[in-house]
Amino acid sequence: MKRSLLIILLLFGKASLAQNIYYITADRVFDGQQMHEAWAVIVENDLIKAAGPKAQLAIPKGAVQISYPNTTLSPGLIEGHSHLFLYPYNITDWDTQVLKETDAYRTARATVHARNTLMAGFTTARDLGTEGAGYADVALKRAINEGIIPGPRLLVAGRAIVATGSYGPKNYDHDQEIMLGAEPADGNELIRVVRDQIGKGADFIKIYADYRWGLRGDDQPSFTLDELTTINEVTRSSGRVMVCHAKSKEAIRRAVLAGAETIEHGDFIDTEIASLMKEHNVVFYPTLAAVDMISQYRGWKKGIGPMPQSVINKKKSFADALASGVSIGMGGDVGVFPHGDNVLEMELMVEYGMKPLQVLQAATSVNAKAFHLDNLVGSIKPGLKADLVIITGDPLKNMADLRKVNFVMKDGVIYRNEK
Ligand SMILES: [Zn+2]
Repeated sequence: MKRSLLIILLLFGKASLAQNIYYITADRVFDGQQMHEAWAVIVENDLIKAAGPKAQLAIPKGAVQISYPNTTLSPGLIEGHSHLFLYPYNITDWDTQVLKETDAYRTARATVHARNTLMAGFTTARDLGTEGAGYADVALKRAINEGIIPGPRLLVAGRAIVATGSYGPKNYDHDQEIMLGAEPADGNELIRVVRDQIGKGADFIKIYADYRWGLRGDDQPSFTLDELTTINEVTRSSGRVMVCHAKSKEAIRRAVLAGAETIEHGDFIDTEIASLMKEHNVVFYPTLAAVDMISQYRGWKKGIGPMPQSVINKKKSFADALASGVSIGMGGDVGVFPHGDNVLEMELMVEYGMKPLQVLQAATSVNAKAFHLDNLVGSIKPGLKADLVIITGDPLKNMADLRKVNFVMKDGVIYRNEK
Protein backbone atom coordinates (compact mmCIF):
# COMPACT_ATOMS: atom_id res chain seq x y z
CA MET A 1 0.00 0.00 0.00
CA LYS A 2 2.70 2.41 1.10
CA ARG A 3 4.85 1.38 -1.83
CA SER A 4 2.14 1.97 -4.44
CA LEU A 5 1.43 5.40 -2.96
CA LEU A 6 5.09 6.22 -3.33
CA ILE A 7 5.03 5.13 -6.97
CA ILE A 8 1.97 7.29 -7.63
CA LEU A 9 3.69 10.25 -6.02
CA LEU A 10 6.80 9.65 -8.10
CA LEU A 11 4.76 9.38 -11.28
CA PHE A 12 2.80 12.54 -10.61
CA GLY A 13 5.90 14.36 -9.43
CA LYS A 14 7.65 13.44 -12.62
CA ALA A 15 4.71 14.48 -14.79
CA SER A 16 4.53 17.91 -13.26
CA LEU A 17 8.26 18.45 -13.70
CA ALA A 18 8.41 17.12 -17.27
CA GLN A 19 8.93 19.84 -19.84
CA ASN A 20 8.71 19.83 -23.58
CA ILE A 21 11.12 22.38 -24.97
CA TYR A 22 11.59 23.01 -28.68
CA TYR A 23 14.05 25.22 -30.50
CA ILE A 24 12.57 25.82 -33.94
CA THR A 25 14.24 27.57 -36.85
CA ALA A 26 13.31 28.26 -40.47
CA ASP A 27 14.75 30.38 -43.29
CA ARG A 28 11.99 32.89 -42.68
CA VAL A 29 9.74 33.53 -39.69
CA PHE A 30 6.46 35.39 -40.20
CA ASP A 31 5.43 36.66 -36.75
CA GLY A 32 1.87 37.66 -37.64
CA GLN A 33 2.95 41.13 -38.79
CA GLN A 34 6.27 40.98 -40.65
CA MET A 35 8.62 38.47 -42.25
CA HIS A 36 12.01 38.02 -40.56
CA GLU A 37 15.13 36.20 -41.68
CA ALA A 38 17.34 34.08 -39.40
CA TRP A 39 14.91 33.92 -36.51
CA ALA A 40 14.31 31.16 -33.99
CA VAL A 41 11.30 30.33 -31.81
CA ILE A 42 11.52 28.64 -28.44
CA VAL A 43 8.50 26.66 -27.22
CA GLU A 44 8.05 25.51 -23.65
CA ASN A 45 5.13 23.16 -23.08
CA ASP A 46 2.04 24.81 -24.63
CA LEU A 47 3.46 28.33 -24.89
CA ILE A 48 5.87 30.37 -26.99
CA LYS A 49 8.70 31.20 -24.63
CA ALA A 50 10.82 33.41 -26.89
CA ALA A 51 11.16 34.51 -30.50
CA GLY A 52 13.79 36.64 -32.21
CA PRO A 53 17.09 36.68 -34.11
CA LYS A 54 18.81 33.30 -33.87
CA ALA A 55 22.06 34.94 -32.80
CA GLN A 56 20.38 36.30 -29.66
CA LEU A 57 18.56 33.12 -28.63
CA ALA A 58 20.64 30.41 -27.00
CA ILE A 59 19.42 26.86 -27.45
CA PRO A 60 17.91 25.85 -24.07
CA LYS A 61 19.31 22.77 -22.37
CA GLY A 62 17.39 19.65 -23.37
CA ALA A 63 15.55 21.37 -26.22
CA VAL A 64 14.43 19.34 -29.21
CA GLN A 65 15.68 21.12 -32.32
CA ILE A 66 13.40 21.40 -35.36
CA SER A 67 14.60 22.80 -38.64
CA TYR A 68 13.69 22.25 -42.28
CA PRO A 69 15.58 23.56 -45.30
CA ASN A 70 13.96 26.28 -47.48
CA THR A 71 10.97 26.90 -45.24
CA THR A 72 8.79 29.60 -43.71
CA LEU A 73 7.50 29.41 -40.13
CA SER A 74 4.18 31.10 -39.37
CA PRO A 75 1.72 31.35 -36.50
CA GLY A 76 -0.90 28.62 -36.88
CA LEU A 77 -3.30 29.85 -39.56
CA ILE A 78 -6.84 30.87 -38.61
CA GLU A 79 -9.81 29.96 -40.80
CA GLY A 80 -12.33 32.77 -40.44
CA HIS A 81 -15.39 31.21 -42.07
CA SER A 82 -15.83 27.44 -42.09
CA HIS A 83 -18.72 24.98 -42.09
CA LEU A 84 -17.24 21.76 -40.74
CA PHE A 85 -20.62 20.06 -41.14
CA LEU A 86 -20.80 20.67 -44.89
CA TYR A 87 -18.80 19.20 -47.76
CA PRO A 88 -18.55 20.19 -51.42
CA TYR A 89 -21.89 20.67 -53.18
CA ASN A 90 -20.61 19.05 -56.38
CA ILE A 91 -20.49 15.79 -54.38
CA THR A 92 -23.82 16.22 -52.55
CA ASP A 93 -25.99 19.33 -52.94
CA TRP A 94 -26.76 21.46 -49.88
CA ASP A 95 -30.49 20.51 -49.71
CA THR A 96 -29.63 16.81 -49.57
CA GLN A 97 -26.99 17.29 -46.89
CA VAL A 98 -29.38 19.31 -44.72
CA LEU A 99 -32.53 17.25 -45.31
CA LYS A 100 -31.44 13.66 -45.77
CA GLU A 101 -28.23 13.18 -43.83
CA THR A 102 -28.47 12.39 -40.12
CA ASP A 103 -26.55 14.45 -37.57
CA ALA A 104 -24.55 11.31 -36.67
CA TYR A 105 -23.44 10.81 -40.27
CA ARG A 106 -22.59 14.48 -40.65
CA THR A 107 -20.63 14.47 -37.39
CA ALA A 108 -18.62 11.45 -38.55
CA ARG A 109 -17.68 13.47 -41.63
CA ALA A 110 -17.00 16.59 -39.53
CA THR A 111 -14.35 14.77 -37.48
CA VAL A 112 -12.44 14.10 -40.71
CA HIS A 113 -12.96 17.71 -41.86
CA ALA A 114 -11.56 18.94 -38.53
CA ARG A 115 -8.48 16.75 -38.87
CA ASN A 116 -7.89 17.87 -42.48
CA THR A 117 -8.18 21.52 -41.40
CA LEU A 118 -5.57 21.10 -38.67
CA MET A 119 -3.20 19.11 -40.90
CA ALA A 120 -3.39 21.94 -43.47
CA GLY A 121 -1.89 24.26 -40.85
CA PHE A 122 -5.14 25.85 -39.61
CA THR A 123 -4.90 25.58 -35.85
CA THR A 124 -7.98 27.77 -35.17
CA ALA A 125 -11.29 28.04 -37.00
CA ARG A 126 -14.49 30.03 -36.58
CA ASP A 127 -17.37 27.81 -37.66
CA LEU A 128 -20.40 29.74 -38.94
CA GLY A 129 -23.19 27.24 -38.33
CA THR A 130 -23.94 23.54 -38.66
CA GLU A 131 -26.64 24.07 -41.33
CA GLY A 132 -29.18 21.68 -39.88
CA ALA A 133 -26.96 19.59 -37.59
CA GLY A 134 -28.14 21.31 -34.40
CA TYR A 135 -25.40 21.83 -31.83
CA ALA A 136 -23.15 19.02 -33.06
CA ASP A 137 -20.44 21.70 -33.46
CA VAL A 138 -20.44 22.28 -29.69
CA ALA A 139 -19.81 18.56 -29.15
CA LEU A 140 -17.15 18.47 -31.89
CA LYS A 141 -15.34 21.34 -30.17
CA ARG A 142 -15.48 19.46 -26.87
CA ALA A 143 -14.04 16.28 -28.43
CA ILE A 144 -11.17 18.32 -29.90
CA ASN A 145 -10.50 20.12 -26.62
CA GLU A 146 -10.44 16.82 -24.75
CA GLY A 147 -7.91 15.39 -27.22
CA ILE A 148 -10.29 12.68 -28.44
CA ILE A 149 -9.90 13.75 -32.08
CA PRO A 150 -7.37 16.09 -33.73
CA GLY A 151 -8.76 19.42 -34.93
CA PRO A 152 -8.40 23.18 -34.73
CA ARG A 153 -9.43 25.16 -31.65
CA LEU A 154 -12.98 26.19 -32.51
CA LEU A 155 -15.35 29.07 -32.10
CA VAL A 156 -18.81 27.79 -32.98
CA ALA A 157 -22.18 29.31 -33.88
CA GLY A 158 -24.50 26.35 -33.28
CA ARG A 159 -27.67 26.60 -35.38
CA ALA A 160 -27.51 30.30 -36.45
CA ILE A 161 -30.66 32.43 -36.86
CA VAL A 162 -32.79 33.28 -39.90
CA ALA A 163 -35.97 35.28 -40.41
CA THR A 164 -39.07 33.15 -40.97
CA GLY A 165 -39.64 32.43 -44.64
CA SER A 166 -36.26 33.56 -45.82
CA TYR A 167 -34.03 30.51 -45.63
CA GLY A 168 -33.78 27.09 -47.26
CA PRO A 169 -34.28 24.30 -48.02
CA LYS A 170 -37.16 25.68 -50.11
CA ASN A 171 -39.86 24.59 -52.51
CA TYR A 172 -40.98 21.51 -50.62
CA ASP A 173 -44.59 20.61 -49.91
CA HIS A 174 -45.67 23.00 -47.16
CA ASP A 175 -47.73 20.20 -45.58
CA GLN A 176 -44.41 18.91 -44.27
CA GLU A 177 -42.29 20.41 -41.54
CA ILE A 178 -38.85 20.83 -43.08
CA MET A 179 -35.70 20.99 -40.96
CA LEU A 180 -34.10 24.25 -42.09
CA GLY A 181 -30.42 25.10 -42.32
CA ALA A 182 -30.78 27.53 -39.39
CA GLU A 183 -33.30 28.44 -36.68
CA PRO A 184 -36.13 30.78 -37.72
CA ALA A 185 -37.19 33.50 -35.26
CA ASP A 186 -38.67 37.00 -35.46
CA GLY A 187 -39.55 40.02 -33.36
CA ASN A 188 -39.53 39.56 -29.59
CA GLU A 189 -39.09 35.81 -30.01
CA LEU A 190 -35.50 36.59 -30.99
CA ILE A 191 -34.66 37.36 -27.37
CA ARG A 192 -35.51 33.83 -26.28
CA VAL A 193 -33.84 32.18 -29.28
CA VAL A 194 -30.57 34.11 -28.85
CA ARG A 195 -30.47 33.15 -25.17
CA ASP A 196 -31.34 29.55 -25.99
CA GLN A 197 -28.50 29.33 -28.53
CA ILE A 198 -26.08 30.81 -26.01
CA GLY A 199 -27.24 28.32 -23.39
CA LYS A 200 -26.65 25.46 -25.82
CA GLY A 201 -23.05 26.50 -26.43
CA ALA A 202 -22.89 29.16 -29.16
CA ASP A 203 -19.66 31.18 -28.84
CA PHE A 204 -21.20 33.96 -30.96
CA ILE A 205 -24.53 34.59 -32.67
CA LYS A 206 -24.65 34.19 -36.44
CA ILE A 207 -27.47 36.02 -38.21
CA TYR A 208 -28.57 35.86 -41.83
CA ALA A 209 -29.25 39.59 -42.31
CA ASP A 210 -30.32 38.98 -45.89
CA TYR A 211 -31.01 36.09 -48.20
CA ARG A 212 -31.89 35.48 -51.82
CA TRP A 213 -35.63 35.71 -51.18
CA GLY A 214 -36.35 38.74 -53.36
CA LEU A 215 -39.05 38.51 -56.02
CA ARG A 216 -36.46 37.47 -58.59
CA GLY A 217 -34.29 35.48 -56.22
CA ASP A 218 -32.20 38.56 -55.48
CA ASP A 219 -30.55 39.18 -52.09
CA GLN A 220 -32.93 41.23 -49.92
CA PRO A 221 -32.75 42.15 -46.22
CA SER A 222 -34.54 39.74 -43.88
CA PHE A 223 -34.46 41.30 -40.41
CA THR A 224 -35.40 44.90 -39.63
CA LEU A 225 -32.90 47.24 -38.03
CA ASP A 226 -34.90 46.99 -34.77
CA GLU A 227 -34.71 43.20 -34.78
CA LEU A 228 -30.95 43.23 -35.42
CA THR A 229 -30.47 45.81 -32.67
CA THR A 230 -32.40 43.58 -30.25
CA ILE A 231 -30.36 40.52 -31.20
CA ASN A 232 -27.13 42.46 -30.72
CA GLU A 233 -28.17 43.84 -27.34
CA VAL A 234 -29.13 40.41 -25.99
CA THR A 235 -25.97 38.83 -27.43
CA ARG A 236 -23.69 41.56 -26.05
CA SER A 237 -25.05 41.29 -22.54
CA SER A 238 -23.72 37.74 -22.43
CA GLY A 239 -20.26 38.92 -23.46
CA ARG A 240 -20.63 37.49 -26.96
CA VAL A 241 -20.84 39.14 -30.36
CA MET A 242 -23.22 39.15 -33.32
CA VAL A 243 -21.89 38.43 -36.81
CA CYS A 244 -23.94 38.77 -39.98
CA HIS A 245 -24.22 37.07 -43.34
CA ALA A 246 -25.01 40.09 -45.57
CA LYS A 247 -24.53 40.58 -49.30
CA SER A 248 -26.83 43.52 -50.14
CA LYS A 249 -25.90 47.07 -49.21
CA GLU A 250 -29.06 47.60 -47.15
CA ALA A 251 -28.55 44.45 -45.07
CA ILE A 252 -24.92 45.40 -44.46
CA ARG A 253 -25.99 48.91 -43.43
CA ARG A 254 -28.53 47.57 -40.92
CA ALA A 255 -26.10 44.95 -39.57
CA VAL A 256 -23.35 47.53 -39.06
CA LEU A 257 -25.67 50.07 -37.41
CA ALA A 258 -27.06 47.33 -35.13
CA GLY A 259 -23.54 46.44 -33.94
CA ALA A 260 -22.40 43.42 -35.96
CA GLU A 261 -18.67 42.77 -35.56
CA THR A 262 -18.11 40.99 -38.85
CA ILE A 263 -19.84 40.98 -42.23
CA GLU A 264 -19.77 37.72 -44.18
CA HIS A 265 -19.77 37.65 -48.02
CA GLY A 266 -20.53 41.32 -48.85
CA ASP A 267 -20.99 40.66 -52.56
CA PHE A 268 -22.48 44.10 -53.25
CA ILE A 269 -20.13 46.20 -51.15
CA ASP A 270 -19.15 49.53 -52.68
CA THR A 271 -16.82 52.21 -51.33
CA GLU A 272 -19.69 53.96 -49.52
CA ILE A 273 -20.79 50.93 -47.49
CA ALA A 274 -17.18 49.80 -46.99
CA SER A 275 -16.44 53.20 -45.45
CA LEU A 276 -19.37 52.77 -43.06
CA MET A 277 -17.97 49.36 -42.08
CA LYS A 278 -14.56 50.89 -41.49
CA GLU A 279 -16.03 53.70 -39.39
CA HIS A 280 -17.65 51.07 -37.13
CA ASN A 281 -14.51 48.84 -36.93
CA VAL A 282 -16.31 46.00 -38.67
CA VAL A 283 -14.17 43.26 -40.23
CA PHE A 284 -15.10 42.00 -43.69
CA TYR A 285 -14.99 38.30 -44.66
CA PRO A 286 -15.20 38.20 -48.47
CA THR A 287 -15.53 34.38 -48.96
CA LEU A 288 -14.10 34.62 -52.48
CA ALA A 289 -13.46 30.88 -52.73
CA ALA A 290 -17.12 29.90 -52.20
CA VAL A 291 -18.31 31.97 -55.17
CA ASP A 292 -15.39 30.84 -57.32
CA MET A 293 -16.04 27.16 -56.62
CA ILE A 294 -19.87 27.30 -56.84
CA SER A 295 -19.46 28.99 -60.24
CA GLN A 296 -17.20 26.15 -61.33
CA TYR A 297 -19.66 23.54 -60.02
CA ARG A 298 -22.26 25.24 -62.22
CA GLY A 299 -20.12 24.79 -65.28
CA TRP A 300 -17.80 27.80 -65.40
CA LYS A 301 -14.53 26.86 -67.08
CA LYS A 302 -12.20 29.16 -65.18
CA GLY A 303 -9.63 30.82 -67.41
CA ILE A 304 -11.49 29.70 -70.55
CA GLY A 305 -15.19 30.57 -70.33
CA PRO A 306 -16.60 34.07 -69.71
CA MET A 307 -16.50 35.18 -66.09
CA PRO A 308 -19.90 34.69 -64.36
CA GLN A 309 -21.67 37.78 -62.97
CA SER A 310 -21.23 36.51 -59.39
CA VAL A 311 -17.44 36.42 -59.81
CA ILE A 312 -17.43 39.87 -61.44
CA ASN A 313 -19.39 41.19 -58.43
CA LYS A 314 -16.91 39.59 -56.02
CA LYS A 315 -13.92 41.13 -57.76
CA LYS A 316 -15.50 44.57 -57.73
CA SER A 317 -16.66 44.45 -54.10
CA PHE A 318 -13.26 43.14 -52.98
CA ALA A 319 -11.46 45.93 -54.86
CA ASP A 320 -13.79 48.55 -53.34
CA ALA A 321 -13.25 47.11 -49.85
CA LEU A 322 -9.48 47.16 -50.34
CA ALA A 323 -9.58 50.75 -51.57
CA SER A 324 -11.69 51.88 -48.60
CA GLY A 325 -9.23 50.49 -46.05
CA VAL A 326 -11.81 48.42 -44.15
CA SER A 327 -10.19 45.58 -42.22
CA ILE A 328 -10.36 42.35 -44.26
CA GLY A 329 -10.13 38.93 -42.60
CA MET A 330 -9.51 35.54 -44.17
CA GLY A 331 -12.47 33.20 -44.40
CA GLY A 332 -13.38 31.18 -47.47
CA ASP A 333 -16.72 29.56 -46.54
CA VAL A 334 -14.81 26.28 -46.62
CA GLY A 335 -17.17 23.32 -46.73
CA VAL A 336 -18.46 24.62 -50.04
CA PHE A 337 -15.01 23.43 -51.15
CA PRO A 338 -12.94 20.72 -49.43
CA HIS A 339 -11.79 21.13 -45.83
CA GLY A 340 -8.00 21.20 -45.93
CA ASP A 341 -8.09 23.33 -49.10
CA ASN A 342 -8.51 26.47 -46.95
CA VAL A 343 -5.50 28.15 -48.61
CA LEU A 344 -7.61 28.57 -51.78
CA GLU A 345 -9.17 31.71 -50.26
CA MET A 346 -5.70 33.19 -49.64
CA GLU A 347 -4.64 32.46 -53.22
CA LEU A 348 -7.75 34.23 -54.52
CA MET A 349 -7.20 37.23 -52.22
CA VAL A 350 -3.82 37.67 -53.92
CA GLU A 351 -5.35 37.06 -57.36
CA TYR A 352 -7.99 39.74 -56.65
CA GLY A 353 -5.40 42.36 -55.71
CA MET A 354 -4.41 42.09 -52.03
CA LYS A 355 -0.71 42.17 -51.15
CA PRO A 356 0.62 38.76 -50.03
CA LEU A 357 1.89 40.17 -46.70
CA GLN A 358 -1.61 41.58 -46.02
CA VAL A 359 -3.13 38.19 -46.83
CA LEU A 360 -0.82 36.46 -44.33
CA GLN A 361 -1.76 39.04 -41.71
CA ALA A 362 -5.47 38.48 -42.48
CA ALA A 363 -5.12 34.74 -41.80
CA THR A 364 -3.23 35.26 -38.54
CA SER A 365 -3.15 38.49 -36.53
CA VAL A 366 -6.18 40.16 -38.17
CA ASN A 367 -8.40 37.11 -37.65
CA ALA A 368 -7.13 36.67 -34.08
CA LYS A 369 -8.02 40.26 -33.24
CA ALA A 370 -11.40 40.06 -34.98
CA PHE A 371 -12.28 36.99 -32.88
CA HIS A 372 -10.93 38.47 -29.62
CA LEU A 373 -8.26 35.76 -29.51
CA ASP A 374 -5.21 38.00 -30.00
CA ASN A 375 -3.96 37.40 -26.45
CA LEU A 376 -3.91 33.68 -27.26
CA VAL A 377 -3.07 33.05 -30.95
CA GLY A 378 -2.35 34.70 -34.30
CA SER A 379 1.16 36.00 -33.59
CA ILE A 380 4.54 34.63 -32.64
CA LYS A 381 5.44 36.32 -29.39
CA PRO A 382 6.23 35.19 -25.86
CA GLY A 383 3.25 34.10 -23.80
CA LEU A 384 0.97 33.15 -26.70
CA LYS A 385 -0.09 29.58 -27.41
CA ALA A 386 2.47 27.49 -29.30
CA ASP A 387 0.42 27.20 -32.50
CA LEU A 388 2.98 27.01 -35.30
CA VAL A 389 3.16 25.85 -38.89
CA ILE A 390 6.17 25.32 -41.15
CA ILE A 391 5.80 25.23 -44.94
CA THR A 392 8.29 24.71 -47.74
CA GLY A 393 8.92 27.85 -49.79
CA ASP A 394 7.93 31.49 -49.32
CA PRO A 395 4.25 32.51 -49.40
CA LEU A 396 5.22 36.14 -50.06
CA LYS A 397 6.49 34.97 -53.44
CA ASN A 398 3.93 32.23 -54.04
CA MET A 399 0.84 31.92 -51.80
CA ALA A 400 0.32 28.32 -52.97
CA ASP A 401 3.49 27.37 -51.05
CA LEU A 402 1.24 27.38 -47.97
CA ARG A 403 -0.07 24.05 -49.24
CA LYS A 404 3.36 22.43 -48.75
CA VAL A 405 2.97 21.82 -45.02
CA ASN A 406 5.88 20.18 -43.18
CA PHE A 407 5.03 20.79 -39.57
CA VAL A 408 1.96 21.63 -37.49
CA MET A 409 1.98 22.33 -33.77
CA LYS A 410 -1.09 23.27 -31.72
CA ASP A 411 -0.90 24.06 -28.00
CA GLY A 412 2.71 22.83 -28.07
CA VAL A 413 1.66 19.39 -29.37
CA ILE A 414 3.09 18.26 -32.71
CA TYR A 415 0.42 16.95 -35.11
CA ARG A 416 2.49 16.85 -38.27
CA ASN A 417 6.25 16.58 -38.69
CA GLU A 418 7.40 15.33 -42.06
CA LYS A 419 10.05 16.10 -44.64
ZN1 LIG B 1 -21.03 30.38 -44.59
